[in-house]
Amino acid sequence: MSIETAIGLETGQPYPYSRVELVEPDWTRFPGWKDVTAEDWASVQWQRAHCIKNVKQLRELLGDLVDERFYADLERDQAERATMSMLVPPQMMNTMVPHALDQGGPSGPGSLTDAFYADPVRHYMIPVFSDRRTDWSSHPHATRDSLHEHDMWVAEGLTHRYPTKVLAELLPTCPQYCGHCTRMDLVGNSTAVIDKLKFVGKPNDRLGDMIDYLRRTPQVRDVVVSGGDVANMPWPRLESFLMSVLEVENIRDIRLATKALVGLPQHWLQDDVVEGMSRVAGVARSRGVSLAIHTHANHANSITPLVADATRAMLDAGVRDVRNQGVLLNGVNADPHALLDLCFRLLDGAQIMPYYFYMCDMIPFSEHWRVSVADAQRLQHHIMGYLPGFATPRIVCDVPFVGKRWVHQLADYDQERGISYWTKNYRTSIEAESADALSRTYEYYDPIHTLPEAGQRWWAEHSDLDSSALKAAEVAEASRRTAALQAW
Ligand code: SF4
Repeated sequence: MSIETAIGLETGQPYPYSRVELVEPDWTRFPGWKDVTAEDWASVQWQRAHCIKNVKQLRELLGDLVDERFYADLERDQAERATMSMLVPPQMMNTMVPHALDQGGPSGPGSLTDAFYADPVRHYMIPVFSDRRTDWSSHPHATRDSLHEHDMWVAEGLTHRYPTKVLAELLPTCPQYCGHCTRMDLVGNSTAVIDKLKFVGKPNDRLGDMIDYLRRTPQVRDVVVSGGDVANMPWPRLESFLMSVLEVENIRDIRLATKALVGLPQHWLQDDVVEGMSRVAGVARSRGVSLAIHTHANHANSITPLVADATRAMLDAGVRDVRNQGVLLNGVNADPHALLDLCFRLLDGAQIMPYYFYMCDMIPFSEHWRVSVADAQRLQHHIMGYLPGFATPRIVCDVPFVGKRWVHQLADYDQERGISYWTKNYRTSIEAESADALSRTYEYYDPIHTLPEAGQRWWAEHSDLDSSALKAAEVAEASRRTAALQAW
């Protein structure tokens, strides 16, 4: 036992901190990778070529270590529920059941089934039908573009929601697809239940239009360069776009969004990428622009030595900071210990700054992952005080038509019906003419299965209404609350 653990236990702290060394799990424990060498593993080409994309490939990897019932469960999910197609790089796959088949453990047919079902990374990367709710699998207000980003496009793929910052969706693909993806409307291949939206413009025209908008909009100072995942853009094209952004006088912050730093760190360790990042970071530094990477890890098991190496390579190349934006998910991390384990693994092991945990957005079939605002508030309370203040993540709710709000910032909360009411202090790009943009309330909805009986009954009764009648009842309630707030 480490000294820190001993101190934690002696003082009876609810969370007993202990420093944990990062480990790359042994990928040869999986039958399909028993002959894979360290050289193969380090190769981004090998990783991309051996992603798990379907049930057949998963079966070839795991064989009979996992029961047929799991594969059937997965097939049913893909046919009836999945909003994202399957794409799991070996690096991510290897962080599932990391201790399975350790010496002395069970290793026969079916021996991995229970552990695989329970695994937190599997829960969001390879969702199965039995994971999902059967009562309310989707919230009545779930939508494909739950944040209404497309409504705020000022050029195709360029969302202008906040006063001084924009989100540039450069491309609609990633090296890995997360089951809970908030951009499920656009990102990835179509699934049996979701036909994906396609960009209409040619890639070069779209990027040119984005740069034009930045040039003619001096109030924008901050660009989140995202997708999808920028790791899927050929480096020369990404570098050229970033250099164009750096030429725009008003831009002071550039943040690159890439889950691949965690899911496919081999990408960010390639020589041409590291050298290219060094050039971009050099120009950024000379112009006083902060260049950062934002990644997306949801569980401590995802943080391995290769993730730390890739982060180090980016920091050495001149990136000012690498920050983590996780998603709060039931079955994955919606527990104070899991959140703190992840934050310490990020900070101590990989020099990644814990930054945000987003509540899972209201997309279709996500109810089993979502938590209520009240639970998110409790989690925020429980994780305070252990990490340095600068590395204590905020749990945020991305409220439709509003944007990120800390979970304690709500204006009102009907806990029986699970409706929270939020206000904002700026106009989005679609509200220039709106008289009540700064005074009205906006709603966010808790998962119905988490509500008290009376609330569940209310939703059951009102779910018979067509959506416009439901909306009218809620608009009336929201107006009443807005008036009450204004009076106050
Ligand atoms: S990496 Fe991000 S954009 Fe890509 S599937 Fe996952 S959540 Fe969606």
